Amino acid sequence: MIPGARLIILGRQGAGKGTQCVRLSRHLVVPHISTGDMLRAAVREKTELGVAAREVMDAGGLVGDDIMVGIVRERLSRDDARTRGYILDGFPRTVPQAIALDEITAERPLTTVIDLDVPRDLVLERLSARRVCRDCGTNYVARGRERQPWICDVCGGDVMHRDDDTPEAINHRLDLYEQQTAPLIEFYGETGRLVVVDGCSAPDEVFVRMTDAVDKSRTRG
Ligand code: AMP
Repeated sequence: MIPGARLIILGRQGAGKGTQCVRLSRHLVVPHISTGDMLRAAVREKTELGVAAREVMDAGGLVGDDIMVGIVRERLSRDDARTRGYILDGFPRTVPQAIALDEITAERPLTTVIDLDVPRDLVLERLSARRVCRDCGTNYVARGRERQPWICDVCGGDVMHRDDDTPEAINHRLDLYEQQTAPLIEFYGETGRLVVVDGCSAPDEVFVRMTDAVDKSRTRG
């Protein structure tokens, strides 16, 4: 294993970023840093940040760039990220965040920026069929023939449609992605740092493509 993978994973909601990041983080032995998870933890703990972020998150908006850059700067300065590297998931989400990240990582630049590419109609289909266990968070895919209520195989909890997985809410999140996050693909593409990975296949197949992309960019760099 070559130490020091510093990765960013971009992609629409529903592209499979979460699943792939968890697998990659085990494979590369680097922390998976998800800004969405950090914010959700702050909301649960009712910290000052959590209280401020909650309303924006509930409305499907984006938390301010200054706040997000501060959180990420602090997290990347910790020993595990400094010595081993990291996978950043959910950050940057805007061009100003990407510019700030280049400053933060000036001494140890990013090794790979991956765009996990799944077209809009396919993620819409995936997210509309997504069901989540209310108790343990296990994800399921609805085939339209399930009995109600649907019981979780893992913990026996109720499997539900998430409130923010309605067609309207999904479309709103995807619109926001096109407006604010898609320009990042241009930003990293222009500086020759972007690798596009086709995310349309089964998770195992996509994972092989992801690890290939990481290996190639690290030998190149
Ligand atoms: P996620 O789990 O990545 O979809 O993030 C959940 C929510 O957290 C988003 O809808 C945003 O409200 C907020 N969030 C996460 N990361 C960022 C970021 N880099 N910039 C702004 N808001 C963010």
